[in-house]
Amino acid sequence: MSSVQSIAVLGATGSIGTNCLDVIRQHPGRLRAAGLTAFSSVEKLKQQVEQFQPNWAAIAVNQVCDTSGFSSPSKPARTQWFHDLEVVPELVRRPDIDIVLSAVVGAAGLPATWAAVDAGKRVAIANKETLVVAGSLVMSRAAETGARLLPVDSEHSAVFQCLQAGRKQDLRRVVLTASGGPFRGRTKAQLREVTPEMALNHPTWKMGRKITVDSATMMNKALEIIEARWLFGIPSSQIGVVIHPQSVVHSFVEYCDGSVISQMSPPDMRLAIQYALTWPERLATTCQEMNWNVSHVHEFHPPDFEAFPALRLGFEAADMGGTCGAVLNAANEVAVARFLNCELRFDQITQVAEEILRNHQYDANPSMDRLLNLDGWARKEAVRWNT
Ligand code: NDP
Ligand code: MG
Repeated sequence: MSSVQSIAVLGATGSIGTNCLDVIRQHPGRLRAAGLTAFSSVEKLKQQVEQFQPNWAAIAVNQVCDTSGFSSPSKPARTQWFHDLEVVPELVRRPDIDIVLSAVVGAAGLPATWAAVDAGKRVAIANKETLVVAGSLVMSRAAETGARLLPVDSEHSAVFQCLQAGRKQDLRRVVLTASGGPFRGRTKAQLREVTPEMALNHPTWKMGRKITVDSATMMNKALEIIEARWLFGIPSSQIGVVIHPQSVVHSFVEYCDGSVISQMSPPDMRLAIQYALTWPERLATTCQEMNWNVSHVHEFHPPDFEAFPALRLGFEAADMGGTCGAVLNAANEVAVARFLNCELRFDQITQVAEEILRNHQYDANPSMDRLLNLDGWARKEAVRWNT
């Protein structure tokens, strides 16, 4: 892979999207932003379009976005604008796209990610919700079309790298590290008092609002367990979680001989994004290096399932598969939004997700339509859930 790779950056204005554009900016001879999407950040998207001159840009239909200034007789527009995100699945299928960076937040990322997989593209996947909702269908479609899913989530990127040290049949288990979020060490009772402001203050990573709250409840780790189950084709019994507050060891893989292989780096999402875009090559980055001239202390602790019951839900949903991921994810998305809107307490986010998961009509082998129906059902249930 040495020619210039054209990338569709879905969710370009978000935390992962802007980090991805930073990576692209550093490798002009190798990477090019060919398509950009956003939901409502009109001004930010316009600036990105001006800077990266993609072939196309898309924003949600209800956003008033004056793009007339982009073209004139003396300056014909290079970028085709779409005021409609429903066209994005068709845009990513175009032959001018080599890689799709899937970095929309939530299940809203599914249609375009599915289209990219269906079209056999390389997909750098940050949008874990796609795999949580429809991992089984996505992975089997990828096997049919030859689409390659490269993880962007730091833990899964680490596991992907560590898996290159051995054979799948020699794998004992995969251990996902978790920072523990801002409330590590708090009791269940103390967590009742958490406000949105407190939850949005993550100790080691700067991320979008939804994943920051997910990290605080540890639902993020639950979603990552399900993500790992599908991405690496391993049962939940081969997945573990360990708390590592420093966020330097990004995950481990244990082999049958007892060897534990890990991947380390200072926390910076640009590393995982770049590796997903350039794999199997590694290119130099401007990311901070490990400094071995200073002392490091790296802690590892078992997780507290009592204070963070979301973790247990992650293992359960990964184990049962079928419709569980879609329902858990949808209920959580709405519950997080309601928490941020001060309609639910912090601990109720997981309570809502658990109750709706338990009450849904389970199907072990759902179609995509069934998954999308249940996603809608779980959202309605979470909206009307009363405190
Ligand atoms: P952000 O909230 O920062 O960004 C989300 C992006 O998606 C924005 O570009 C936003 O546009 C767009 N968007 C929001 N809603 C919709 C919608 N309904 N339809 C289409 N586009 C939409 O999120 P993050 O970048 O933090 O996270 C993106 C994904 O990556 C998530 O799935 C997250 O779990 C995953 N991830 C993120 C990590 C991180 O470090 N941030 C780490 C690992 C995984 P607009 O700006 O216009 O609202
Ligand atoms: Mg992660």
